[in-house]
Amino acid sequence: MRSLICIVCPVGCPMEINDSANGNLSVTGNKCQRGEVYALEEIRAPKRVVTATVSLTEIGHSSVRRIPVKTTFPCPREMIPALLQDIYKTKVSLPVKAGDVIIAGWKEQGIDVVATRTVD
Ligand code: SF4
Repeated sequence: MRSLICIVCPVGCPMEINDSANGNLSVTGNKCQRGEVYALEEIRAPKRVVTATVSLTEIGHSSVRRIPVKTTFPCPREMIPALLQDIYKTKVSLPVKAGDVIIAGWKEQGIDVVATRTVD
């Protein structure tokens, strides 16, 4: 058995995931279907939205040296270290607008890395 708090909405249902005799997983404690979907994904293939910062090739007007970025979709957890390495190797020229794609379609995962702040 594994315990998990659902983070899909602010209710935060405490859930339990159990192995049944036939090898299937059962989820209890969730108040809606989204909790079960989240719990099963968390057990089978956990993913996270990744946030980080990217270097600028020059210093912006507000003395900013790095800009914050995030992935547009959750990334498989085991791939996060490789994604972070690529993010930290990346350098971006000014100007950058919030929403600009900094890394497109990372490793064919359909994951874009976008700026979350405008800097000029
Ligand atoms: S199970 Fe449903 S109601 Fe409960 S926290 Fe998750 S999304 Fe919200």
